[in-house]
Amino acid sequence: MVLLNKGDCDLCGRTYRYSLWHAGFGGSSYAYCEDCGILATFNYSNPILSTLPPLSALNLEIDSAWEPFLHPCTCGGRFRKGASPRCPYCQVPLSAEYAAGHIERNSLGAARGWHWQGNWSGVYCIAIEDPDIPGELRQMFDPVLQGEPVKTKKHWTQMFSFSR
Ligand SMILES: [Zn+2]
Ligand SMILES: [Zn+2]
Repeated sequence: MVLLNKGDCDLCGRTYRYSLWHAGFGGSSYAYCEDCGILATFNYSNPILSTLPPLSALNLEIDSAWEPFLHPCTCGGRFRKGASPRCPYCQVPLSAEYAAGHIERNSLGAARGWHWQGNWSGVYCIAIEDPDIPGELRQMFDPVLQGEPVKTKKHWTQMFSFSR
């Protein structure tokens, strides 16, 4: 069971639901699709990842050196370093600064002095709910070319979610 929090788009004002995930918790790197903004996570337990160029840092956004080895997103876009999550309604890249308002409000840790990282490349990544499929996060797991990309719920238990 994944706990979802509510956020809002600074452009269209609509509310979406998301899950914030600490990449270090599951032992992963991640990237967003440059076209539709969905999250791809790459779990280090997948042996295929050891065939890719070594990363400069773990538990963060991927290095651009990985981009040629990644399977395209289901929308046909590419997972790229520097891409941002997008509003599921108006498709505009979400502002990491604006998101601080609801992310910190939704976070239990904020009361203890935790602050949102303020970008889409740090240790926290965000998966946003598909507005057409309530409860389903828009996310791909290990979309690496040598293997088949899978979109399942089996890794959800690894997600670290702030909610209340
Ligand atoms: Zn929007
Ligand atoms: Zn996409």
